[in-house]
Amino acid sequence: MSFDDPGDTRFHPDDGCPLFSERLEDHIVGVSKGQMPNRGYFCGNCYTPLGRETLHCPQCGEDTRSGRRPVDAVPQPIIDALIAQRKTESTWVTSFAYLGVLIAVISGLAIVLSIPFFRASILWATIFYAPWLLLGSRGLAGILGGYYGDRLGYEKARAKTRAAWDAWVAERGYSA
Ligand SMILES: [Zn+2]
Repeated sequence: MSFDDPGDTRFHPDDGCPLFSERLEDHIVGVSKGQMPNRGYFCGNCYTPLGRETLHCPQCGEDTRSGRRPVDAVPQPIIDALIAQRKTESTWVTSFAYLGVLIAVISGLAIVLSIPFFRASILWATIFYAPWLLLGSRGLAGILGGYYGDRLGYEKARAKTRAAWDAWVAERGYSA
């Protein structure tokens, strides 16, 4: 199963952590896949890729002349934070999806074993159980993984990202 593309409609909470703009996320994903070098022109505060003429970062509003100077590479701890965030998210989505499969397996068995008609006929039990398993595991995996896993995973991952951001802000200090 693959759940690694959250799409481009990602929700960005106003929680004091400016990570990660879509452009920064795209950049880091490209770098981590080896598709592009970690070189460019980035906001000195939130590391969103900027144009050379940009005066104010569109993500965090940092002034590129009077605020933190733009940098030419995204710092490794920021890259690590995104990779950790995505890993946490996909772990939650995948775990909930498997939980959905498990529920389909067990509920199907419970129904087959509790109804005398199915217990008496392995053929009818199979005819019932096969599509139940197929449709049930798909549906439940989609609902549990895609909805609950996605939301819970995002919250857990975002908490880690906020902590990583706080640690980074403390570490980099105030020199530009
Ligand atoms: Zn910025």
